[in-house]
Amino acid sequence: MSTIFKKIIDKEIPADIVYEDEHCLAFKDIDPKAPVHILIIPKKEISSMSEVTEGDKELLGHLLLTASQIAKDFGISDSGYRIAINTNNEGGQEVYHLHIHLLGGRQMTWPPG
Ligand code: 5GP
Repeated sequence: MSTIFKKIIDKEIPADIVYEDEHCLAFKDIDPKAPVHILIIPKKEISSMSEVTEGDKELLGHLLLTASQIAKDFGISDSGYRIAINTNNEGGQEVYHLHIHLLGGRQMTWPPG
């Protein structure tokens, strides 16, 4: 089933896009939990980490490399940041289109809630 993120990919609804290529899209979270809060998503519709397959190996690597580059572009690479992929109900996932949260610009705490 299509999600709000698919509509963002298809430019049916607006988003503050910070990076885009053939395989992925990155945009600012509408309700940021840190000074920098960017979502990196594949253009391929994968609902969650529990649905990835061997065939997604290259795509998953690409998403992580893109997150690393965006962290550099936003000046949070050296200070530090957190990458999170909320997965399914108990993982706190709300939008069922795989996404990486890139959070930074403040001190993170551990353990997460
Ligand atoms: P999840 O809880 O699924 O890991 O995270 C979903 C994230 O998507 C949340 O942080 C939420 O603020 C963000 N979000 C939900 N709807 C929209 C939207 O329409 N636009 C943007 N930019 N972010 C959204």
